[in-house]
Amino acid sequence: MSQTPRSVLVTGGNRGIGRAIAEAFLAQGDKVAVTTRNGGAPEGALDVRCDITDPAAVDAAFAQVEEAHGPVEVLVANAGITQDTLVLRMSDDDWSRVIETNLTGSFRVVKRAAKGMLRLRRGRIILISSVVGLLGSAGQVNYAASKSGLVGMARSLARELGSRSITTNVVAPGFVETDMTEVLTDDQKQTIKTQVPLGRYATPVEVASAVTWLASDGAAYVTGAVIPVDGGLGMGH
Ligand code: NDP
Repeated sequence: MSQTPRSVLVTGGNRGIGRAIAEAFLAQGDKVAVTTRNGGAPEGALDVRCDITDPAAVDAAFAQVEEAHGPVEVLVANAGITQDTLVLRMSDDDWSRVIETNLTGSFRVVKRAAKGMLRLRRGRIILISSVVGLLGSAGQVNYAASKSGLVGMARSLARELGSRSITTNVVAPGFVETDMTEVLTDDQKQTIKTQVPLGRYATPVEVASAVTWLASDGAAYVTGAVIPVDGGLGMGH
């Protein structure tokens, strides 16, 4: 249990990694809000509908969370999508949708959360990037650009907000068993496993435990860090 329950907001917390993160904070006794387009937050969490590509919806979602739980003290910007194809086939729309959700959507929720954190003079911001943002990935020019963009965003926020005891960090998962990776063929999954030193995918819970640690008292002096949870896949990057 956390000593004092905190107001935690997890974007994209109805399934996959986000759901495991929300459940981990709930297990600690925190007040958790989950924002998604389709609903279905885990039991015990505040279920808030919010498409992060819509600025007005983001503002309304924060107002709802603040009303129920108080200002957001821990923000986990997790919602993300892929729209994979090779660069010559990638349309402007393929590019924009992914950047708009993964990068601009994260910017929107960070900006809104920072407002309350600056007043509180404390806060934890955790951005869910990907090993792909550092390594690159054929067929994912849009996704990799969005995910490496989060690293620059986090490090700038760490410098901008650090004097108010607000930390900003990135978690960079490798391949995790979720709907997002379910679309890969068995051959692709097998090839990936051969490249991962630990020889397997991560579970969503393994990513969640890095996130709850970054939000814990023990991580108070960690900011601007990129924490890999990738079985060693991205070593050296
Ligand atoms: P899933 O596809 O399982 O879940 C994606 C989540 O994002 C859902 O909750 C979805 O909810 C939400 N979401 C998507 N678009 C929007 C939007 N416009 N507005 C609000 N919510 C949205 O993904 P994962 O759990 O696999 O991934 C979670 C994060 O981790 C992503 O950022 C992903 O890039 C990253 N990641 C995943 C890896 C993996 O191997 N799975 C590896 C590395 C990083 P809804 O559809 O209801 O809106």
